[in-house]
Amino acid sequence: MTTGSGYHIAIVGGGVVGCALALALAPRFKRIVVLEKESAPGMHASGRNSLTDVELRRFLCERGLTQAAQFSWDRTARETVAVYQNVVQE
Ligand SMILES: Cc1cc2nc3c(=O)[nH]c(=O)nc-3n(C[C@H](O)[C@H](O)[C@H](O)COP(=O)(O)OP(=O)(O)OC[C@H]3O[C@@H](n4cnc5c(N)ncnc54)[C@H](O)[C@@H]3O)c2cc1C
Repeated sequence: MTTGSGYHIAIVGGGVVGCALALALAPRFKRIVVLEKESAPGMHASGRNSLTDVELRRFLCERGLTQAAQFSWDRTARETVAVYQNVVQE
């Protein structure tokens, strides 16, 4: 938590992980900054693509989106609490 013109969250690295994290946190924090050392995001590993098979890429993208849809902050919180409760009970 900051005051004045500061940021609530600072993320170092504007690759796919840093940008996805900023997107995921945006609904909860008004002031997020992504610090990237290059002149543009995605210049390192995130700018690479091993897949040249268009059909395989389409299939994997669709599967990835289906998989990602199974996760949410609420589910993560519920399942994390459940793990702690199990540990406490044992
Ligand atoms: C050749 C290659 C092909 C790939 N092909 C695929 C594929 O087809 N499909 C797939 O799903 N994955 C693929 N991957 C893997 C995927 O690219 C990576 O897992 C993913 O991009 C990692 O994202 P990242 O945000 O963690 O890292 P990065 O994209 O590397 O981002 C890290 C960022 O942090 C910045 N940074 C570092 N230090 C600092 C600092 N001190 N201050 C400010 N900024 C900093 C860097 O400049 C960089 O932009 C491939 C990877 C490679 C190398």
